[in-house]
Amino acid sequence: MAKQATRKDSPLSKPQARTRIERLREVIDRHNYLYYVLDEPEISDLEYDRLFRELQALERRFPDLVTSDSPTQRVGAPPSEAFAPVVHRQPMLSLANVFSEEELRAWARRAGMALGSQRIQHVCELKIDGAAVSLTYEHGAFTRGATRGDGVQGEDVTANLRTIRSIPLRVKAKRVPRFVEIRGEVFLSKHAFDAINRARQAAGEPLFANPRNAAAGSLRQLDPSVTALRPLDLFVYGLGAVEGLEVATHDAALAWLKSGGFKVNPHTAVCATLEDVVSFLSRWSEERAALPYATDGVVVKINHFRQQAELGATSQAPRWAIAYKFPAEQAITRIKDIKVYVGRTGALTPVADLEPVGISGVTVTSATLHNEDEIRRKDVRIGDWIVVQRAGEVIPDVVRVLTDRRTGGERKFVMPKRCPVCGAAVHRPEGEAVARCTNVACPAQVLGRLILFCSRDAMNVDRVGPKLLMQLLDHQLMTDPADLYQVTKEQLVTLERMGEKSAQNVLDSIASSKSTTLARLLYALGIRHVGAHVAEMLADHFGRIERLMDASFEEIRDISGIGPTIARSVAEFFRLPENRRIIEKLLAAGVRPAAPRKAAQGPLAGKRIAFTGTLDRVPRSRAEALAKERGAIVGGSVSSKTDYLVAGEDPGSKLDKAKQLGVKVLDEEEFQKMLK
Ligand code: NAD
Repeated sequence: MAKQATRKDSPLSKPQARTRIERLREVIDRHNYLYYVLDEPEISDLEYDRLFRELQALERRFPDLVTSDSPTQRVGAPPSEAFAPVVHRQPMLSLANVFSEEELRAWARRAGMALGSQRIQHVCELKIDGAAVSLTYEHGAFTRGATRGDGVQGEDVTANLRTIRSIPLRVKAKRVPRFVEIRGEVFLSKHAFDAINRARQAAGEPLFANPRNAAAGSLRQLDPSVTALRPLDLFVYGLGAVEGLEVATHDAALAWLKSGGFKVNPHTAVCATLEDVVSFLSRWSEERAALPYATDGVVVKINHFRQQAELGATSQAPRWAIAYKFPAEQAITRIKDIKVYVGRTGALTPVADLEPVGISGVTVTSATLHNEDEIRRKDVRIGDWIVVQRAGEVIPDVVRVLTDRRTGGERKFVMPKRCPVCGAAVHRPEGEAVARCTNVACPAQVLGRLILFCSRDAMNVDRVGPKLLMQLLDHQLMTDPADLYQVTKEQLVTLERMGEKSAQNVLDSIASSKSTTLARLLYALGIRHVGAHVAEMLADHFGRIERLMDASFEEIRDISGIGPTIARSVAEFFRLPENRRIIEKLLAAGVRPAAPRKAAQGPLAGKRIAFTGTLDRVPRSRAEALAKERGAIVGGSVSSKTDYLVAGEDPGSKLDKAKQLGVKVLDEEEFQKMLK
């Protein structure tokens, strides 16, 4: 079990402690912001927890130095202004953590002492690594969903939560309360997390550090259609404020939730003794590796609500529950070498080749080093001893170098000046972290593009994987993705380990990939900066590939959510004759990209709408998302094609332009009416 990092007998004098406390608060506040607001943490949870516990220990030693704005007195971070605020009727608190069996027993002893001679039952649940939400049901109907935010006030993410299929829109139970807040954890499966990160890597976007940040990031999308593309799911684990429902225990509340059609995690146990709790912990420390979703601990709760009420809560966390955190999945090993891989965009990624080491049942032999700057920041050298971690159980990552183990024989890494695959020049543009091979015909780039084209989220040619693609390239049976549709059975059977039957399966899988969606095809083309979400936005806007091929930079840029960098990349891609030729070949081979579903019905369906000025009732980003949800096409500027301009306070030049062009101008109230 993890060693505690608290400094119980801090040697610091009071003035020294004050300075250290101030520094810790500053650092923790910054990491809270990165983690909760931007969903982009810079340090591991282990490092964060170490800082937090150090601050807690110092504040315990010098209670008069505790201030109400200390991170130890608050939950999460203030909600983002991009969403409408929601005040929770019952605050959504955090959980106090324990990191060892001994600490868990100490917590149980404290609770036992406070409750006198009462018999105590505990409920053990898995701690799902996702983002907390509160779902409000009024008279059985789902009326609002919110994030935890700072515990008192969260963000209204109702539209996004409605895209999650496992959330019932009506409570199915026999007993339906007048009002209830249901608390749960939105999460992504390990598989979905992995797929999202692969897609982000392919699109050159930054990776999510762990499933929790990926879930929170997906939930806090301004555009619900982007959330809908992420396979989010939800486990519920408790009640907040309730009116008109009597339940006496947590266990009974879970049973009611189950009967109401909510998804309750099946691995939940009511434990009569503390020994049962401990065996639940050790069982799931092992078995969690086989679960399809990530867990970072076990939550132990006292079962009786009466006892919970007696124990109460601090400003941060209830006293009747505790999170036992599983030991971090880290190990120490040595870097044998640093190799450089070339991806489909030519990006050179340095990867550490490790002495094999076991981390929770998996042998890890390599870890990503991301890029040159990252290597410099962590000062990683060939021959170094390092701490390696499986972040989110997926991508092994170098946490830090154990510099005190250096012998002097370590070597600094130098990014090659020539591509290790084709020998072409490597270029790192000003201000970018990534160095790239400049040869578009580089075999590594060609192969990378073909792998993306066939991948599951793209054309989904499931029988054509990297090995077969490599053979097809070696035998000069293809040079671009469209050639795949010309490959014959006679050609396939000449390849190594390819019988008649396998060849037929390959051909069937190629043939069935021809009926696809426009979004998938656009993603499959591997246009720089076009990941699955951007592809979906482009498909929604243009409907047909021919329209997109002829669109100007300005028309693409004016799609809400698409900035100039993406627009430039898309317009340039379709301007190149070579790319147009590939698309024509694909269409001629029978690839049929279906247009997106018809837009919703209503006064805004299919209308082009733009916004100017500050809105009163909802932030502008939210208003745009609502308009889109109702089928409107939201643009960033006004043209003769615009149907409506919504003008708030202090409108800009768009208002003059709309008047000039005779575009109908709506005030916020008229716009709200149209939404209804
Ligand atoms: P937490 O994650 O330790 O525990 C509280 C949360 O657990 C609840 O809000 C809920 O979302 C979740 N949960 C999952 N399953 C549950 C269940 N069955 N019952 C009840 N709750 C359940 O606390 P927190 O306040 O959300 O986050 C603090 C933690 O976040 C830190 O300990 C640290 O690990 C991490 N963090 C990391 C950074 C960083 O920079 N790496 C920054 C801030 C926070």
